Amino acid sequence: MKINQIECSLIEYPLPAPLRPAWAPGRVFNTTNCTLLRVHTDEGVSGVGAGPEVGMLGINTFADLVAPYILGKDPFMVEQISPYLRVAARDGSYPWAFEMALWDIIGKVTNQPVYRLWGGFQNRMPAYASLAEVPSFEEQVERIHLLHSSGMRAFKLRLRRPSIKEDIALVEHVRSVFGDQIDLMVDANQAHVMPSPKPIGAWTYFEALTVARAMQDLNVLWVEEPLPRYNYHQLAQLAEAVDIPIAGGELNIGLHEYKMLVDMNCYDIIQADAAFSEGIFQLRKVAALAEMSFKKFIPHTWSNGIGLAANLQLAASLPNCPWFEFPVDPPGWTVAARDFMLKKPFQVDEDGTISLSEAPGLGLDLDELAIQRHTKQHWISNRVL
Ligand SMILES: [Mg+2]
Repeated sequence: MKINQIECSLIEYPLPAPLRPAWAPGRVFNTTNCTLLRVHTDEGVSGVGAGPEVGMLGINTFADLVAPYILGKDPFMVEQISPYLRVAARDGSYPWAFEMALWDIIGKVTNQPVYRLWGGFQNRMPAYASLAEVPSFEEQVERIHLLHSSGMRAFKLRLRRPSIKEDIALVEHVRSVFGDQIDLMVDANQAHVMPSPKPIGAWTYFEALTVARAMQDLNVLWVEEPLPRYNYHQLAQLAEAVDIPIAGGELNIGLHEYKMLVDMNCYDIIQADAAFSEGIFQLRKVAALAEMSFKKFIPHTWSNGIGLAANLQLAASLPNCPWFEFPVDPPGWTVAARDFMLKKPFQVDEDGTISLSEAPGLGLDLDELAIQRHTKQHWISNRVL
């Protein structure tokens, strides 16, 4: 079997309401965008993957940096292909969708879901609602009520208010309203700020420590990204200073950055993402290192339905992944908008868990009409014989 054609589309889908995510202070998003990749083979089986939208850079990465070297290769030879993707990550942007598509092909050919091919661990796991915005206290409580009534049992709150005093007060308020009925995580989003009209300076070590201690007292399950990404020493110092787990790593790139994060004990929970960080199978190596170091690996999944599907397969194959991130924050970020490219959006069941289907590969059933309607740019390689 060989890869004989590659196709890439930039897609822009309107959100049902404007989204003001904590990680881009002052910005308003009206669409969700992605780079959709399809890898075709000479035996008629095709795989799909997706990454974030980075404009023409997304198409150029696959057209100029991946296709010339990978067309004609056997899609089962993932480790042979991975080095090309690493070079494309350095010279281009987010090529990791390619490895998703390879595993989608391998799963379809072998008629197995990807997580089972890797030695599955679970086909159902607790999901947490990963919220995006920083609303008023009342609005935050209302949103949690709404999601709680649909089955969500755990919520990750965003801490990016003007002062840590307000952030801590928000979590105290939510805890006082819901008591122990819900599990809580918090994400400070200090590691990465998107270009933004209102950039906020990162927390100091003292602020991060103060918040972590307060969260520990409020029985929060983890504190995510409390310090800038490359502040390795103070991350390690913080993780050592408190008992509450420190989580992060969603936008680190490459196996060796993760090795350093694990070896230096920067995080108790590693949150690499199969769309942002490395190939989906490559991240199993990071998860294994975390496992051997008695750490958790809970993938970040905030991109789109295909990215979520890939990370779900990864998560289900791991013995050290006790939660699954389920991005949802209506009215702006709904599951229908997040998964617009899928005929059936992923849902959390009434008991707060997400389950995997036994469909082969990544288990995706694409909504071709929606994809076609919202495609802004499209590129297709020549077919090789
Ligand atoms: Mg995060």
